[in-house]
Amino acid sequence: MASSPGDGMRFETRAVHAGQDPEPAFGAVNVPIYQTSTYAQPEVGKPKRFDYARTGNPTREALETVLASLEGGRHGLCFASGMAAEATLLLTLRPEDHVLLSNDVYGGTYRLLARVLADWGVAYDIVDMTDLAAFGAAVRHETRVVWVETPTNPLLKVIDIAAAAELAHDGGAMCVVDNTFATPYLQRPLELGADVVVHSVTKYLGGHSDLVGGAVVTNDDALAERLAFLQNAVGAVPGPMDCYLALRGVKTLALRMEAHCRGARRIAEFLSQHPRVTTVHFPGVPGHPGFEVAVRQMKDFGGMVSFEVGSRDEAVRVVQRTKLFFLAESLGGVESLIEVPAPMTHASVSDSPLAVPDTLIRLSVGIEHPDDLVADLEQALA
Ligand SMILES: *Cc1c(COP(=O)(O)O)cnc(C)c1O
Repeated sequence: MASSPGDGMRFETRAVHAGQDPEPAFGAVNVPIYQTSTYAQPEVGKPKRFDYARTGNPTREALETVLASLEGGRHGLCFASGMAAEATLLLTLRPEDHVLLSNDVYGGTYRLLARVLADWGVAYDIVDMTDLAAFGAAVRHETRVVWVETPTNPLLKVIDIAAAAELAHDGGAMCVVDNTFATPYLQRPLELGADVVVHSVTKYLGGHSDLVGGAVVTNDDALAERLAFLQNAVGAVPGPMDCYLALRGVKTLALRMEAHCRGARRIAEFLSQHPRVTTVHFPGVPGHPGFEVAVRQMKDFGGMVSFEVGSRDEAVRVVQRTKLFFLAESLGGVESLIEVPAPMTHASVSDSPLAVPDTLIRLSVGIEHPDDLVADLEQALA
C-alpha cells in the first residue's frame, strides 16, 4: 500500500512524477523492475523498507503511489488483475451483507457476486442506477456496498456518481466506483463523493494491451489498512514487470485519452449518419440520456462507442470485415478493437439481467488517425 504525495501539481505532471523520483543508487529516471521475492535484512526482526515481495515491492509501490495521486486518493493498492482487486475488496464483507449492482455492470463483477460470493452468504440485487427512484428504493438496511460503473459496458449508460454516493451514504453503505472506462483523467469519483475506486489496470491505465492488473484507491484510512492486510493475506498481487509496464503506460494516460476521445467522437458522428446503423450508444451524442450527467461529471466522453445494426448476422459480418479494428475482447489499448458482446465478452451473462442485444457491436477506439478508422468502418459496413 502506498500513500500519495499531496504535491498540488497537475494531472499530467503527477502521471510522470508521483512516486517516480530518480532511483537513488544511480539516478535511473525509470523506476527499476525490482525482480526479487525477498530483501536481505541487516538484523533479526529489523528489515529495511521491505521484507517479502507479496507484502511489498518498490516497483509496485511506485504504481500504487501514482494511481492514488491521479484518483485524488490517499491510499492505492495494486492487484494481479481487476478481478483480484474486486475480490479482495469484497472480502471485507461478511455473510448477510448486501451489495447493490447496476444492471449493466461488468460481467465478471456480476459473476463474482452471483457465482462466488453468493455461496458465502453475501446477497446482491441488480437495479437500473440511472433511475434514481428505483435505485433509492433498492438500498436495504443490510446494504454495505453500492457498486457503480459508469459509463457502463457495453451500453455506455451514465450513472450520476454524486447522487449514487448520497443514496449509498443515506443507507449507511459505501459507494464503490469501477472507473475503468473513464480513467481518472476523465472522471474522479472520490471528488464526487465515492468512497472507493476500482480499476482494471489492464485497460486504459496500462493502455498497450500488454499486461493484466488491478487497483483500488480510497481516502478511508481504516478501509485502506484492512485492504493492505487482505492484499498480503490473500496474496493476489501483481509482479514487478507488470507494474513497470503499467507505470510506463500511465505516464502517457492524458495524451492517450485525448486521442481516444477525439477518435470516438468522430466515429460516433459518422455512425449516427450511417443508414445501416440503427442506434448509436455514446454519451457524447446530444440527446443521449446520459449526456447531461456526463458533461457534469466527466472531462470528455471516453473512447468506447457501441452501435446496433439490423440483425445478428450483419453484426457478425461487420466485425469480421474490419482490418484496422482487430476482432478481440478487452479494450483501452492504443489499437482499435471491435466485437459483438452477446457471443463474446457478454456470453457468460446471456441468461441474466445483464444480457445485451445480439445486434450490438462494441468499439474500443484506439489512437490511430480517426480518418483511417472511419474509412475502415465504412468499408466494413458497405
Ligand atoms: C476488464 C474489466 C474488469 C476486470 O478486470 P481484469 O483486469 O480483466 O481482471 C473490471 N471492470 C471493468 C469495467 C472492466 O472492463
